[in-house]
Amino acid sequence: MSSPHVSTDPVSSGPVDLDLDALRAKYRAERDRRIRPEGNAQYHGVGDEFGYYADDPYAEPGLTRDPLNDRVEALVVGGGFGGLLAAARLRQTGVESIRVIEKGGDFGGTWYWNRYPGIHCDIESYVYMPLLEEVGYIPKWRYAPGEEIRQHARAIARHFELYEDACFQTQATELRWDENESEWLVSTDRGDRIRARYVVAATGTLSQAKLPGIPGIQTFRGHTFHTSRWDYAYTGGDANGGMTGLADKRVAVIGTGATAIQIVPHLAADAQHLYVFQRTPSSVDARDNRPTDPEWAARLAPGWQRDRMENFLKVVTGVRVDEDLVNDGWTSSARLLEKMIPTNAYADVPAEERERAYEYADFQKMNELRHRVDALVADPATAEKLKPWYRYMCKRPTFSDTYLQTFNRANVTLVDTADTHGVERISETAVVVGGAEYEVDCIIFATGFEAGVSGILAGRLPVYGRDGAQLLESWQEAGPKTLHGFYSHGFPNLFQLAPLQSASAPNFVHVLDEQATHVAEVVAQARKRRTRYVEPTPEAVEDWLATLRTNEPDLHSFQAECTPGYYNNEGMPRKTTMMYGDGPVAFHALLRRWRSDGGIDDVLTMAE
Ligand code: NDP
Repeated sequence: MSSPHVSTDPVSSGPVDLDLDALRAKYRAERDRRIRPEGNAQYHGVGDEFGYYADDPYAEPGLTRDPLNDRVEALVVGGGFGGLLAAARLRQTGVESIRVIEKGGDFGGTWYWNRYPGIHCDIESYVYMPLLEEVGYIPKWRYAPGEEIRQHARAIARHFELYEDACFQTQATELRWDENESEWLVSTDRGDRIRARYVVAATGTLSQAKLPGIPGIQTFRGHTFHTSRWDYAYTGGDANGGMTGLADKRVAVIGTGATAIQIVPHLAADAQHLYVFQRTPSSVDARDNRPTDPEWAARLAPGWQRDRMENFLKVVTGVRVDEDLVNDGWTSSARLLEKMIPTNAYADVPAEERERAYEYADFQKMNELRHRVDALVADPATAEKLKPWYRYMCKRPTFSDTYLQTFNRANVTLVDTADTHGVERISETAVVVGGAEYEVDCIIFATGFEAGVSGILAGRLPVYGRDGAQLLESWQEAGPKTLHGFYSHGFPNLFQLAPLQSASAPNFVHVLDEQATHVAEVVAQARKRRTRYVEPTPEAVEDWLATLRTNEPDLHSFQAECTPGYYNNEGMPRKTTMMYGDGPVAFHALLRRWRSDGGIDDVLTMAE
């Protein structure tokens, strides 16, 4: 049955009857063109024979140091914003002995590894960059360049005196609970054996680069790298462009996600010829970046950043506010984010009405974005290929004022690979699609990251708790078992910061700050009471899992209709998310209530 609405036609701009059934069929056909039966198995990690893709291009090579055999009070695994926030919040509660272990050569996490040309954060800097008031910094741009964000991460580390005890170029390889001492023994790939009363694991969620399993990928004789390890030694230039090394090079970019959107305009400006290999076009909305207005900055009252972060979170999750302080592409599409970030904000609207209104608003937004392509891309055939035919939150929305226009350049070729489910083959000298060979000197993989929820859950960091129990094994049968996503029974004094059995949001740094604050306050209580360990009772964990089950959001039916990508497990969406269905605003309130209402006394075991 079709459901007609008066709306705007995808091609002309006059009012027409919107045939939702036809639109759904079009979306489904576009999804089916791209689905691959092997799902996630179509990708390779960057270990083993692809290990060189993960090498650190920024750290001083040849670091040697003696293994550490010592003791700290709190050990934080990961020096990105999660680890920095955990360490900063612990420091604020009075913990003096804190060591951060970090694989990279410095703090920064994502912003340490990703330094590609054009890199910016597409969440507003005033809400994204954490601890601005604590550090005393105002970002220079509304959407900050990566280098400014990386420098801010370093400033946080300096401000909270985290450099002194930090271990860089070091990977934690095992966490093992020592019952006799009531502390963790942390092993690393540099032979360290560090004892710690508390461990916080903040290992990131999109930190392991992945490569497509394209036949012949290893036979390519030209230059190649992944976007998260940009090779400026080869390209020349820096994150602002100026890549003189590419002036005589034919360059291929594989992938057109949020990363490629930022890179492509710079590569087009500097390469002799650029081939963009696209499987699914991103939706590309306007960016409208601008420098910070000094008069606005001067008027900011203490507490402004917390208010702004809260306001942004409320708006994007449908909670009513008097004023939308950020007022950008994320907040104006708030209604459409519900399918990614569940919320209870629309609970008073009957489900059917909600769905209808949502689908209609989705169509309007996607239609507007398809019109944007027509308006900016001169060649109609190229414009057609760049149009996104799926619902808004099937893929990460992107924002750029230069990406689409890049395809008007004579030295840029868009190669659509949907009909072959991606690039078909790579030869010694070329990228092959539909039998056509595109000879190139360099292939850049903008093919994203393994979407795990943490290093622990992905199995990269084995954890042995009380009686030698392995954490992942204990979760094998019935899935993860945590209280609020942070801690598990049998694994005392271990806290995870991750989107696991909790609530997430587009500004994930805000989520991390709430998590870090909570963990720091639990640790502060444990210290105040001079307890040796803190862990949730089995009943508290079961209660939390029951809460998650009762209000678990149904994202499956939406995701099953989506074009494949990491949002829907490559077209094979999981039946269960075990996320908190009332959304992040309610989840953060729940944590605060839990702290003030004595949750620590009721559900945590604290032993002398
Ligand atoms: P993505 O996973 O979003 O994109 C990977 C791209 O590679 C997709 O276009 C994918 O196509 C393509 N691809 C994969 N395999 C093949 C193949 N065999 N042939 C052709 N193309 C292929 O990775 P990104 O690095 O772009 O982004 C990852 C995440 O990082 C984002 O979603 C976002 O969360 C974050 N990010 C955030 C930014 C910010 O400003 N806050 C900026 C940049 C990234 P297909 O879609 O068809 O699978």
